Amino acid sequence: MNRPALQHAPMKQFTVKENCLCIGGTKVTDLAAQLGRTPFYAYDRSVMNNQVERLRNSLPKQIHLHYAMKANPMPEVVNHMATLVDGLGVASKGELGVALASGTPVKDISFAGPGKTDTELEAAIRAGITVNLESENELVRINKIGIRLGIQPVVAIRVNPDFELKTSGMKMGGGPKQFGIDAERVPEVLKTVEQMDVRFRGFHIFSGSQNLRPEAIIEAHDKTFDLAIRLAGHAPCEIDLLNIGGGLGIPYFPGETRIDLEPIAANLNRLLPDVTKALPKAELVMELGRYLVGEAGVYICRIIDKKVSRGYTFLIADGGLHHHLSASGNFGQVIRKNYPVTIANRMKNEIKESVSVVGPLCTPLDLLADKMELSIAEVGDLVAVFQSGAYGYTASPLGFLSHPAPLEILI
Ligand SMILES: *Cc1c(COP(=O)(O)O)cnc(C)c1O
Repeated sequence: MNRPALQHAPMKQFTVKENCLCIGGTKVTDLAAQLGRTPFYAYDRSVMNNQVERLRNSLPKQIHLHYAMKANPMPEVVNHMATLVDGLGVASKGELGVALASGTPVKDISFAGPGKTDTELEAAIRAGITVNLESENELVRINKIGIRLGIQPVVAIRVNPDFELKTSGMKMGGGPKQFGIDAERVPEVLKTVEQMDVRFRGFHIFSGSQNLRPEAIIEAHDKTFDLAIRLAGHAPCEIDLLNIGGGLGIPYFPGETRIDLEPIAANLNRLLPDVTKALPKAELVMELGRYLVGEAGVYICRIIDKKVSRGYTFLIADGGLHHHLSASGNFGQVIRKNYPVTIANRMKNEIKESVSVVGPLCTPLDLLADKMELSIAEVGDLVAVFQSGAYGYTASPLGFLSHPAPLEILI
């Protein structure tokens, strides 16, 4: 007996007009005509609005939302997100520049990431943003730079927790890690902090990302607050910042479904009275990237050729791996699975055929869809890759094979 094939989660965040996918209410065929060329990324601000609203309606009011800019650092996207969320997380001096230009108050900007250079630390100190320290050396270096500049650095400690986010797409804590200071070292490091000329704010505890299981997030929240309260007992002052990380995932692959926020919110509501009693001054921050912007973006490319090779049909597009590494399966996937992909100008066609959508690169890795059932397509049609608003454009090897970079548009 054949088991039914696993399906992609429905992509209902966009409308369809005259058989064509619309982004921000405009048909992608019209967008392609306006832009004058393909491929391009199109981001829909109303989908971002809806994702933030969904979180705000569900999570306790005490949870502040920050946007992790590396998910999509396009300045227009960051400026839009800055109007929706309570702060920004940056991971480089370049991102810091975009964050500052968005008008976000410096107290609501934090900088995490291993290997910050002196130039980056100096820029962060001058701006007055919060630096999440990733190592004991970084503490010594930032203190020195602060003294040289005559400006007191504002710091928090990124903690490498003594637990992991279970079944997380990408583990960012637990065990030996390049991120953060090991939890068991933190009490000692806090003694050093006290000796130094820095303003200490609190902790950043990020245990993983791309999780679709509420039970795993709940367990991470339980352990995160427990660890934060224990460590705060060693701090030189009452902490005024606790960044509990993010972790909320979005469905990319067949069989995955959207995460249910209700049990996560209920657990936070259960935990918060004890947390606010133990850490009364701490602003609680959840820092998210893909959950806020991933669903809002599509990557659009055009079919240049259609060919049959030994009975198998290939749609050859003008875009691929060099523009969208994640959709090709080469950005951290162990076993390649298809992103949700569709023929954007044939949304309602009943008759489908099994095809592979490949890009123009001279490598078999350049694959956007492997043996998917898609509407029967012709040369000139547009392929849309959904769930492409995060870790698309800037997470791809745009220089590989020297094709032009795709365009980006926020609608
Ligand atoms: C990348 C990153 C995030 C965002 O991860 P998503 O999976 O996109 O939500 C949050 N916090 C930190 C510290 C990060 O490095």
